[in-house]
Amino acid sequence: MDGNLIKGKSPLAVCTDATDSAACQEALKNLKNPYFIGDQPGLTQTSGWVDGWMSAPSAYAVAARTTADVVAAVNFARENNLRLVVKGGGHSYQGTSNAADSLLIWTRAMNRIVLHDAFVGQGCAGAVMPQPAVIVEAGAMWMHTYDAVTTRAGRYVQGGGCNTVGVAGLILSGGFGSFSKNYGMAASGLLEAEVVTADGAVRIANACTDPELFWGIKGGGGGSLGVVTRLTLKTHELPAWFGIALLTIKATSDAAFRRLVGRFIGFYSESLFNPHWGDSVAFRPTNTLAVTLTSQGLDQRQAADAWRPFLDWIAGSPQDFTLDKTPFIASLPAQHLWDVGYMKEHAPGLMMTDQRPGAAAGDAWWAGDAHQVGWFLHGYQSAWLPAALLQKQQQEPFADALYAVSRHWAVALHFNKGVAGAPADVVAAAGDTATNPAVLTAFALAIIAAGSAPAFPGMPGHAPDLAAARRDARAIDRAMGELRKLAPDAGSYISESNFFESGWQRSFWGTNYPRLQAVKARYDPDGLFFVHHGVGSEEWSEDGFTRLTGRSP
Ligand SMILES: Cc1cc2nc3c(=O)[nH]c(=O)nc-3n(C[C@H](O)[C@H](O)[C@H](O)COP(=O)(O)OP(=O)(O)OC[C@H]3O[C@@H](n4cnc5c(N)ncnc54)[C@H](O)[C@@H]3O)c2cc1C
Repeated sequence: MDGNLIKGKSPLAVCTDATDSAACQEALKNLKNPYFIGDQPGLTQTSGWVDGWMSAPSAYAVAARTTADVVAAVNFARENNLRLVVKGGGHSYQGTSNAADSLLIWTRAMNRIVLHDAFVGQGCAGAVMPQPAVIVEAGAMWMHTYDAVTTRAGRYVQGGGCNTVGVAGLILSGGFGSFSKNYGMAASGLLEAEVVTADGAVRIANACTDPELFWGIKGGGGGSLGVVTRLTLKTHELPAWFGIALLTIKATSDAAFRRLVGRFIGFYSESLFNPHWGDSVAFRPTNTLAVTLTSQGLDQRQAADAWRPFLDWIAGSPQDFTLDKTPFIASLPAQHLWDVGYMKEHAPGLMMTDQRPGAAAGDAWWAGDAHQVGWFLHGYQSAWLPAALLQKQQQEPFADALYAVSRHWAVALHFNKGVAGAPADVVAAAGDTATNPAVLTAFALAIIAAGSAPAFPGMPGHAPDLAAARRDARAIDRAMGELRKLAPDAGSYISESNFFESGWQRSFWGTNYPRLQAVKARYDPDGLFFVHHGVGSEEWSEDGFTRLTGRSP
């Protein structure tokens, strides 16, 4: 491996006996920095999930620099019958990019990004028009991709919201970003990928060559069909404006909060259910509505105008509602959204930066994601909510359900993670991915989640509080139960879903699952690639070491 084989070790090994040494304190401080975590083959961006999984370094890691390194690792794992794991950005909530006693293919160093004006996929000449695109190696993260495509080149590529998520991991799971209501799922923008399959072959997958493999990696889930080494993504013209709307409203009574929930649903369906608005609102047990929305294509005045009817309604009942501070509704020139220098000057506090000596100035993450860095999950569940719930006669029962959920736990509606309300071609493109077709008619993904600071079993002062975590998990179950009464067949987004999801094949992929199984059987018949609740994983033991017989989904 030319020196790129690393013996597995956690940087937190220095904390095993005591946490007061300088080395341990430094390691723990760095756990708040997603760039530090991403630089460690032995760490993951989520530290574990109560009663589900705990982060564990592999026995060995291949720090792949080239496709040939990946081929060598795949061949070695297959020939020696090893448990194989692939890690890019390391953000899997389900822990699918780490496993004890495994060989890890770690793509962090494969991070080149190159823009093209007129890309034509291999074998597609004459069948597909040349189009602007960006070619990204598998280990690149979204922040660096946005920097190359938007800040430097004035174009747009549909990726994820969290800056340090890996490009490959997001595309493989479908992928949504703030502006997906206009540009669609990130996987829909995939034009071509280079994939190393279980037989060690390097394949180019696109709509003209290996089309089934191409379809499967668009939402079929990471770590199941092969190792993606390079992706080519469509780029779009950049809109003039991106924007943000931040406001928090507290109701003075339960009854007032129930009215607020109902009014917001009506307002959303009248004014915000369109390609301009994305991201989320949360309904909290504290009788609080927290709005964290983003906009695209609206200048400051247009964005503020959209909110006027709702804010007037709030202002009309001062005895019932209070705003924690003046709503922040702002638009900025779109080219500067990921421009760290500009953001520091014009929107201080929205971005955090890597403070380690020698860190690149552009290595930043959103302050809103900071609580998730390294967190230990107590629960995380999601459900795609059908747009039918926004119809006039459905709004009241829907508001009742949201209110009932909020008595147990906070629920966030991520409007950018369902493509109902998007332009027709965007909906059609999402239909050409492996993701559960429920996404096509969903106006939002409801997420109910809880976690705590990074936790590691046995580490003094930093072990998980299992009793508290299990209590939260039960409350989340009850909360999601209220929503499922209204949407019993709601699918769930693989990347942001329950580790214990029952009927996961149907939840993640719906009617697409048999087709995905066929792709798996064709490209990985012996099951070299295994991840928890991945395609074909029902044929394996929970740890992925033993093939079971006589079981089918
Ligand atoms: C803080 C946070 C914020 C998030 N925000 C969003 C969001 O805004 N939108 C959204 O859609 N999702 C979001 N997610 C979910 C995220 O997109 C997925 O977890 C994604 O799969 C992570 O990719 P990764 O490369 O960072 O993670 P990893 O854990 O490295 O990989 C995820 C999975 O993909 C596999 N994989 C990675 N690279 C490859 C490869 N090259 N070839 C084959 N398999 C590979 C891994 O084996 C693993 O199974 C978020 C997650 C976190 C933790």
